[in-house]
Amino acid sequence: MDRQSLDQIVNEVIAQLNKNDVTEGIPIGVSARHCHLDQEALETLFGPGYELTKKADLSQPGQFAANETITIVGPKGSIEKVRILGPLRKASQVEVSQTDGFKLGLKPPIRESGNIYGSSPVTLVGPKGSIYLKEGLIIAQAHIHMAEEDAEAYNVQDGEFVKVRIEHEARPIQFEKVLIRVSSRYKLEMHIDTDEANACAVRSGAKGKLLKAGQADA
Ligand SMILES: [Zn+2]
Repeated sequence: MDRQSLDQIVNEVIAQLNKNDVTEGIPIGVSARHCHLDQEALETLFGPGYELTKKADLSQPGQFAANETITIVGPKGSIEKVRILGPLRKASQVEVSQTDGFKLGLKPPIRESGNIYGSSPVTLVGPKGSIYLKEGLIIAQAHIHMAEEDAEAYNVQDGEFVKVRIEHEARPIQFEKVLIRVSSRYKLEMHIDTDEANACAVRSGAKGKLLKAGQADA
């Protein structure tokens, strides 16, 4: 083998290693019910000047689970110890599963995080007060966080819907409408809620295979 073709092979191998391995699969993260608060809601629930304290970092950079929890209330019932995720946002939002919606007696729509216009009302109760949100309760649409390099490697764009297949010896499943969310702040991970995870016996750490819409099943 001559020197030139050896260099070429080495360069190709390095290029492959540097590329994100799209055959590896998308790591799955299961999101339990949680809420995001704005400044006003935090102070109403926990008192003026209150600041969240960090319990643990989340997989997405900068996001954290707070030590603080609240109770959420609907016409049929309430759910205690709903974790607050930080940092604070511009608008309060509560993300639950369909099962939680039944328990509360509310009908949250399936939405992309942040899109709460016209969503379900819900009451939040904290140690120092309560607040009635006219909208803000949603079921999060299954989605994949990824950085620009990942989007390139998987040949997808922000806002696109893809399919994701998760293998399991007893309960394999295929998600048909998974939203791609691209940002330099994101780390590659697919988020599903507890109902979706239980439907296919999936736990955090499992991996899914991304299929472009229209692409044949695995
Ligand atoms: Zn997410």
